[in-house]
Amino acid sequence: MKSVPFLDLVRLHQPIREQLDAAYHRVVDSGWFIMGPELEAFEAEFAQYCEVKHCIGVGNGLEALHLLLRAYGVGPGDEVIVPSNTFIATWLAVTQCGATPVPVEPNIDTHNIDPALIANAITSRTRAVIPVHLYGQPADMDPINAVAAKHGIVVIEDAAQAQGARYKGRRAGSLGHAAATSFYPGKNLGALGDGGAVLTNDDSIAEKVKQLRNYGSTVKYQHYITGYNSRLDELQAAFLRVKLTALDDWNARRVEIAAQYSKLLASANIDLPRVPEYAEPVWHLFVIRTKQRNALKLHLEQIGVSTVIHYPIPPHRQACYQGFEGYSLPLSEILAAEVLSLPMSPSMTTEEVELVGHKISTFIEKKIYVNEGA
Ligand SMILES: *Cc1c(COP(=O)(O)O)cnc(C)c1O
Repeated sequence: MKSVPFLDLVRLHQPIREQLDAAYHRVVDSGWFIMGPELEAFEAEFAQYCEVKHCIGVGNGLEALHLLLRAYGVGPGDEVIVPSNTFIATWLAVTQCGATPVPVEPNIDTHNIDPALIANAITSRTRAVIPVHLYGQPADMDPINAVAAKHGIVVIEDAAQAQGARYKGRRAGSLGHAAATSFYPGKNLGALGDGGAVLTNDDSIAEKVKQLRNYGSTVKYQHYITGYNSRLDELQAAFLRVKLTALDDWNARRVEIAAQYSKLLASANIDLPRVPEYAEPVWHLFVIRTKQRNALKLHLEQIGVSTVIHYPIPPHRQACYQGFEGYSLPLSEILAAEVLSLPMSPSMTTEEVELVGHKISTFIEKKIYVNEGA
C-alpha cells in the first residue's frame, strides 16, 4: 500500500519551487542577510494579512512570546495564565521571564482554554493571559478579553497554529493586546528554517520588541535595554513572502480536507473536532479523540499512515516542571491520552484522505483492537 505522510513539505513546495529559488538568488545577490529590505517587506505584508498595524519578525515562536512578555514588563513574582493543554513553548516563555505559569483547563469540546475558568485563576500577581488558538481554531476571545479587561491584565494570543484563522470575522493575531506566531516549517505559514513574529496595534510595544530582538537597540551601538539577538533573517523573510501568497489557497485546501475527514468518520465511534459558530479554523491539525488511540495509531503506522500526538505529555507532567506535579488538571491528561492528529497537508490528495478515513472507520468498526485499560 502507498504510504501517507503526516505532512509532505517537499510536495507542498513543488509548485512554488521556482519562486523560492528566485527569492534565494535575490538575497544572495543582494549581499544583505540580516535586518534588510526582505524583512521590512514581509513585515508589512504579514501585518496587512493579519489586519494589525505592526509585525516584528523574530527568531522563532517561543522568542516572540518571550519578547512580548518582557515588553509588557512581566518578570519574577508575576503570574501568567496559560492553557494546561498546549505546546510547552507557551509555558516556557513565561518561565524564561522568571514568572509563574498558572494553568487553566480547556473546554473539552474545543480543547482550547475555557474562558469561564479564567476568573478563578486570577490573583493580585496576575499580569497576563496567553490564550492559544490550538490546532488552528481560535479560542473564544470575547469572554477572555472581557475578564482580562475587568482585572486589568494583558491578553497575548499564541497564534502559532492559526495563521489566517478568523474569530467572528477577525483574524487571529489581531484579537488581543498583542500576538505571537511561529514560522516553524510545519506551521500553516512555515519558513525553510526557524522564524517567528510579534503582531500588535500598540506602537510602544512594537518599539520595545524591536529593541529587544536586536540587543536592546534601534540605533546602531546605542543600547536602551538589555536585549537579545532574535531576528528573522533576510532569506527566511524572502521565502515567507513567497509562501504568504499561497497561504489562503493552502488554508482553503485544509478546510476541504477537514470536511472530507469529518464526513468519512461521521459514523465511526470517535470524537471529531467541533467548530463553534464564532470560529473559522485553518486546520493546522485535524485532531480526533478515541479511547483506542494507542492501538489505532499503531495500526495506522503498520499500514503506512503517519499520525502524531499533540501532545502526549501535558506541560505540568513534564520533567522540567516538577513544581507542578501536585496540580490536578484531569482534562488535559485525558486529552493527552486520547487525542490523535491525522495526516494534514494542503498537498494531500482526495484519495489519500479517503484512504485514511476508510482505514480508521474499518479499524473502529471491526474493533480490531485490544480495549485499552478496559
Ligand atoms: C510551534 C508553537 C510554538 C513555538 O514556536 P517555535 O517557532 O517552534 O518556537 C508556540 N506555541 C505553539 C502553540 C506552537 O504550536
